[in-house]
Amino acid sequence: MLIHDAIMQLPRDPRLTLAFLHDFIRLASLAQPFLTFHQKPSTAPIVLPTAITSVLSGALECNAELVQTLWGVLKDEIWSLSGVVASDVEIKKYNEFALAQGTSYQHIFPPTRVCLDTSCVKSRKSHDRLTLSDPVTHKASLFTLRNGPLPIYTTSLYCRNCNTRYYHNYCVNKSESTRTYYGGLPDILQVAEHFFLESALMELLIAGQVFGWVSATNWARIYDYALAPRSPQVTNNAAAFATTRTEESCQLNWQSSLHLRADDVLNGFFLYSLLLDKAEHGWVLVLGHDKRDQAVRLRTALEERNQQLEGIGQENYTHACQLCCHVLEDSNHQLWKIQAAVCDGNNMGHPCCGVHDCKVPLQSRNDRFCPSHRLEREAKCALDDCEEPSEARFRTCANPDHRKLEGIYFNGKGKAVSQLQSRLKKAGLAVSPDSASLNTTTDEMVEGVIEGSEDCSGKSDAAGYTKRKMHLVGLSYRVQPFMAQRLSLLFT
Ligand SMILES: [Zn+2]
Ligand SMILES: [Zn+2]
Ligand SMILES: [Zn+2]
Ligand SMILES: [Zn+2]
Repeated sequence: MLIHDAIMQLPRDPRLTLAFLHDFIRLASLAQPFLTFHQKPSTAPIVLPTAITSVLSGALECNAELVQTLWGVLKDEIWSLSGVVASDVEIKKYNEFALAQGTSYQHIFPPTRVCLDTSCVKSRKSHDRLTLSDPVTHKASLFTLRNGPLPIYTTSLYCRNCNTRYYHNYCVNKSESTRTYYGGLPDILQVAEHFFLESALMELLIAGQVFGWVSATNWARIYDYALAPRSPQVTNNAAAFATTRTEESCQLNWQSSLHLRADDVLNGFFLYSLLLDKAEHGWVLVLGHDKRDQAVRLRTALEERNQQLEGIGQENYTHACQLCCHVLEDSNHQLWKIQAAVCDGNNMGHPCCGVHDCKVPLQSRNDRFCPSHRLEREAKCALDDCEEPSEARFRTCANPDHRKLEGIYFNGKGKAVSQLQSRLKKAGLAVSPDSASLNTTTDEMVEGVIEGSEDCSGKSDAAGYTKRKMHLVGLSYRVQPFMAQRLSLLFT
């Protein structure tokens, strides 16, 4: 629309400055998710619903009549604006009136207005007609990368024909009691019933875990300290900004917490990784929907995913280049190959049952045996071929030879590390007992080794591979340094 045409249609009102129009257009565009749910998404509603009129008239300090008049003139322009990124001031202004009306900035709805089951009578090709019904709205918290934690409303819809409820990330069929995700990667992830995280924030959390070894607990602290406040440089340094007038932070009384929890970081990490994996393969994630803990709900899907990765499931399983593989010919013209084995050499390892090849998970990572082997094996001598009962406070029986072996086992711990350090020293690498400096050194080393190669895919790929393939077992951050150690030992 030409500005001239718009101006000709606007009423002569002293409040109508350019700044006012700018604010109106931006704030009205924030109501689009709410309006799209109530009206046809393809065209702007002719008249604004009462709730949104109240929000805009409150935020802009004008009467409802002026809001409706401006909407009548500018609605098509506003409707064509998509993906408006609101400032903190705009969000605050909007939410100050929207929360009381049962809506919010970033009000979350299902991505469909019709049933997605093509065999259902409520299914439609076009989303113009709302065939889903029975909306259920509740309060929640959204943790964003750029705007901190936000109080939001989320609404689900129901198909009365096939008894399926549609949420933002997934739908649930009443008879099956499973969550079927929609496929692809959503912008906003539901990590617990009332907690949502932006995918952009998940990328930051994962990068911190991969490159900085940041734990979930520390990420929750960092978010609360540095990302949640609107001006962290001021709020975290009160003495340095003693003369600066800061806006008093108002504590919003909201049903769900606006503090990021370590559990949500971890659940988000696993869910996001599973969704990414499914999206890469063109598959759809399906999880249980009963009232159990989110960690338990994710466990089966994580186990399935890890099983897929075993053996040939690794993306680079067939990789070979002149850096990591060497082919020799012996005197009988027989060809032999030598290939570098890259593995996680850290002792943190993968805790598993002490019975060889037992796949039953441990109840706690401190356990020696799984629940099915614990009673039987802990009561007996730790030596495989001895069936005598173990003595109290020992893992072996009363046989002095067996007791001696137990002593050697525990006293010998740490020798492997010192051996590794001396080998690194021999290879000309500075080694500090401090693990951080050890990894820094080896990180630099691998950079030199890999970047000098024309055939290998390079460090960035290695890092990407590490991130994608190892993060589900929580070891990603350890692979790269140890790969560096292996490579440096082999090629120096
Ligand atoms: Zn249906
Ligand atoms: Zn290679
Ligand atoms: Zn076992
Ligand atoms: Zn024994």
